[in-house]
Amino acid sequence: MATTYTWLWTLLAFILTWMVFDLIKRKKVGTEETEVDAEETRDGEAHDVIIVGAGVAGAALAYALAKDWRRVHVIERDLKEPQRFMGELMQPRGRLMLAQLGLEGLLSSLNSSSYSLQHKIIEAQEIKSLAIYKDGKNDTLYFPDNKNFPYESAGRLLRNGRLVQRLRKKAASHANVQLEEGTVKFLIEEKGAVKGVIYKNSAGEEITAFAPLTVVCDGCYSNLRRSAVHNKEEVLSYFVGYVTKNTRLEDPHSMHLIFSKPLPCVVYQITSNEVRCAAEVPADSIPSIANGEMVNFLKKTVAPQIPDGNLRETFLKGVEEGLLEIKTTATKRMMVALSDVLILRNLLRPLPSLGNTKKVLELVKSFYNIRQPMSATVNTLAHVFSELLVATTAREGMRQSCFNYLSSGGFRTSGMMAILGA
Ligand SMILES: Cc1cc2nc3c(=O)[nH]c(=O)nc-3n(C[C@H](O)[C@H](O)[C@H](O)COP(=O)(O)OP(=O)(O)OC[C@H]3O[C@@H](n4cnc5c(N)ncnc54)[C@H](O)[C@@H]3O)c2cc1C
Repeated sequence: MATTYTWLWTLLAFILTWMVFDLIKRKKVGTEETEVDAEETRDGEAHDVIIVGAGVAGAALAYALAKDWRRVHVIERDLKEPQRFMGELMQPRGRLMLAQLGLEGLLSSLNSSSYSLQHKIIEAQEIKSLAIYKDGKNDTLYFPDNKNFPYESAGRLLRNGRLVQRLRKKAASHANVQLEEGTVKFLIEEKGAVKGVIYKNSAGEEITAFAPLTVVCDGCYSNLRRSAVHNKEEVLSYFVGYVTKNTRLEDPHSMHLIFSKPLPCVVYQITSNEVRCAAEVPADSIPSIANGEMVNFLKKTVAPQIPDGNLRETFLKGVEEGLLEIKTTATKRMMVALSDVLILRNLLRPLPSLGNTKKVLELVKSFYNIRQPMSATVNTLAHVFSELLVATTAREGMRQSCFNYLSSGGFRTSGMMAILGA
């Protein structure tokens, strides 16, 4: 009998203990759920997403999410047309990404009825090939045909600033997008998640904005990412560039790459009558623009290595005319901005609301996994190419090998061009 009582008391104690634990556990889960619910109803949250920066990535993402009925607040530091030379080659795959985002009209195909309207504004130039030159030898390499690709294998050369302005306009025209000029100073973080931003608007007022999701698209010179990403990127070289005006190249449909010394230079048509000229210079020996060393360098060192004729004339004409417009920019790793936008849009699409932090964080994790193959391929290629030509002590040997490899034909050439076309 005593044993039976002991058993009963033990069982009762066990059940009570279990009930207490269960209660505590439920309460904890309840608190977590309440926190998530509370986020969805936070005061002043008029938007589902805050996007910092309206470059190619931010503006395209704003449009894509707005089309999915998200209320988007875009904060851009400077709404004027960016004047810079980067992102001027849209690879064939970039066009495909634009089309998948419903933005193909911005670079309409040459046959489209809306082409003339867009063309006047962007004047994107068709690029079908890479023309390479070294010590009197040259070759032309074409983007390979791909039967799964819905377009002809061609990219577009363009003024990045014009594309950015068209994308901003397109995004801002959507009723779900609020595009505002302002500089984001801080990200507001709570419990390891970004809850919003503090920004200064164009009137100089400091404003706090919250949203369930904040996407930072502030470009490769980002200040905000510094707090989150700690890998230091070494700048090995700079691009120095300018535009030669009122000029049409004899071959405007190629990117002309000259394997010059100390580093390569490029010449390509960016609008119907403007040509981009750019030379890479080692980071440790950039000639001064102010005292005329740069002009001297471009005229005396680089120009003589460019094939005599149309290309060299164009290069020299721009140096003479564009003295004040010469710009330098660090050669950073390339990104795959439009592909990233598409991946993120597709991942977020099934979520009815972005207020569930846990779910959104899970999706963000898979975003990084999904983007890896494309990002790694394009960025690694760009980085290795840069390291080989810039950092190595055996530069001339590497330049020659690179030229030989690219012009060797067969799968080597088509493979490299397929990667270049992303
Ligand atoms: C030398 C060079 C050459 C390149 N060439 C190519 C190429 O040929 N083809 C190609 O596809 N890609 C190229 N790239 C990469 C390409 O430039 C990037 O993929 C593209 O510009 C990324 O777009 P983004 O919108 O992320 O950044 P960005 O275009 O830099 O836009 C960032 C935006 O954020 C804004 N911003 C920054 N900080 C703040 C803030 N705190 N608050 C508010 N707004 C802010 C900026 O004003 C800017 O408008 C090149 C890059 C470099 C450096």
